[in-house]
Amino acid sequence: MIERIEKATEIRHWLGDMEADHYYYSSGIAGEKFFVALRDEGQILGAHCAACNLTYVPPRIYCEHCFAELTEYKDMGKRGCVVAFTIAHYDKAGHRLEPPEIFALISFGPCTTPLLHRLGEVEPEKICVGLEVEAVLKPKKDREGKITDILYFRPR
Ligand SMILES: [Zn+2]
Repeated sequence: MIERIEKATEIRHWLGDMEADHYYYSSGIAGEKFFVALRDEGQILGAHCAACNLTYVPPRIYCEHCFAELTEYKDMGKRGCVVAFTIAHYDKAGHRLEPPEIFALISFGPCTTPLLHRLGEVEPEKICVGLEVEAVLKPKKDREGKITDILYFRPR
């Protein structure tokens, strides 16, 4: 695109329908390690930046703060705590969800980035920031190397 854009809205709007059936996304080097460890070992991996004392969950190949290459992966365990959550009462088509779906950011420690996932086995009114939770995984034979290998997090 070499023409000058005078109005930013002209490049943000797509009129009509847009085919979106044939896109494939790579999980990348760190993402593949994450999904293989989840599938084969039932581990939730993070990548640690020693310079920043920050652990990325899921792992990244470089630190977003200092741009250091991250090669140190570690098992974060299954336990974390809720740092934020939301309760969805309607699906994307506007149909009521019964029961509602609960999404949360799960932290695995004070210097980790949170993982977005679902909460389960919990009444919505009992959820709070700081709630301690643990991952519930699919049985090993059913795991596919996808984020859904973690069924949900439940209170512990
Ligand atoms: Zn760093």
